[in-house]
Amino acid sequence: MTQQTPKPRLLTGDRPTGRLHLGHYVGSLANRLSHQDSFESYFIIADLHTLTTKPEPNYIKDLPFYIREIAIDYLAVGIDPNKSTIYVQSAIPETFQLNLIFEMLVSVSRLQRIPTLKEMARDAHISSMPFGLLGYPVLQAVDILLPRAQVVPVGKDNQSHVELARELAARFNHIYGQTFDEPQDLLSDLPMLVGTDGKNKMSKSLHNAIYLADDAATLSEKVMGMYTDPTRLRATDPGHVDGNPVFIYHDAFNPNLQEVAELKQRYTAGKVSDVEVKQKLIFALNNFLDPIRERRDYYHNHPMQVQDVLNHGIKVMQREAKQTMEIVRDRTGLSYSADLAMDKADLFGQYGG
Ligand code: ATP
Ligand code: MG
Repeated sequence: MTQQTPKPRLLTGDRPTGRLHLGHYVGSLANRLSHQDSFESYFIIADLHTLTTKPEPNYIKDLPFYIREIAIDYLAVGIDPNKSTIYVQSAIPETFQLNLIFEMLVSVSRLQRIPTLKEMARDAHISSMPFGLLGYPVLQAVDILLPRAQVVPVGKDNQSHVELARELAARFNHIYGQTFDEPQDLLSDLPMLVGTDGKNKMSKSLHNAIYLADDAATLSEKVMGMYTDPTRLRATDPGHVDGNPVFIYHDAFNPNLQEVAELKQRYTAGKVSDVEVKQKLIFALNNFLDPIRERRDYYHNHPMQVQDVLNHGIKVMQREAKQTMEIVRDRTGLSYSADLAMDKADLFGQYGG
């Protein structure tokens, strides 16, 4: 066997607060699929991040369900667990350990300058900033650096978080010696997909999302209820195509380019009804979603396979995390606690120390 140069390691993921939708598909899943062979991908299902705005048991109790649903979404769109590592953040105790160390390496005022945090607090109706929410990007830096990832695919909104991860890596290296590669962001200029309301980006909390798991009847109802061109009252009125969500979806999901071009032309000329445009969209979306739905059904009927994928991913990541924390304890000098303890397993957990 010839020795291959290792692929750069990539990290990205999702918070398990709901199923994935078409916005996630165009905004990140499609990208992940295209990177699957050029990077060694780590996909984190970031359950601990949900605690920053929703620490109550009432929310925590839903996490295991959505963790499995998101794993099923990943598998259903074609993420290959033989090529990529899918794991659950809370199953990696080193996350908590490295987080504490990183917290010492950043100032409160630096975190307060990160614009996304105020938005998150506002969206969650939180009036005074919890310590943990301020630390959200620190925890994200832990997610990135624990598997020693070098590349993080992000949209513009998350660039400032990767920048902080770079600063934390550099700061750690400066104080304790070269340990972490500074992670680079892989900026995608993918547009945000608008929701069915035609006003906001598609988002699970705005009730304007079409889910990968939606069945044909649900899909049809959502598309038929979509906003189109508010200035157009009758099928004979000339309509606007630009910014019209129905046509944005046609462009994103209808591979029949000739049909889309013809529909746009007839729409602008007032020669096609909204209903026909929507029916053709439903057809295209069903073609796109049908294979995903089939694979979702398959994994729902084979829950042990999903469990195996998560077990395997967690095991792989636990091994990486253990290695990283051993290096971190050595570099920082904190490894002394292992010499004080009678039984190292008591200190660092069953696979630590
Ligand atoms: P929430 O309502 O809880 O904020 P959401 O549906 O907006 O959920 P997020 O968890 O905020 O989803 O999104 C995670 C990532 O998925 C984003 O950083 C982005 O890359 C991608 N994404 C989400 N929604 C869209 C969208 N409408 N268009 C493109 N990408 C999206
Ligand atoms: Mg969001």
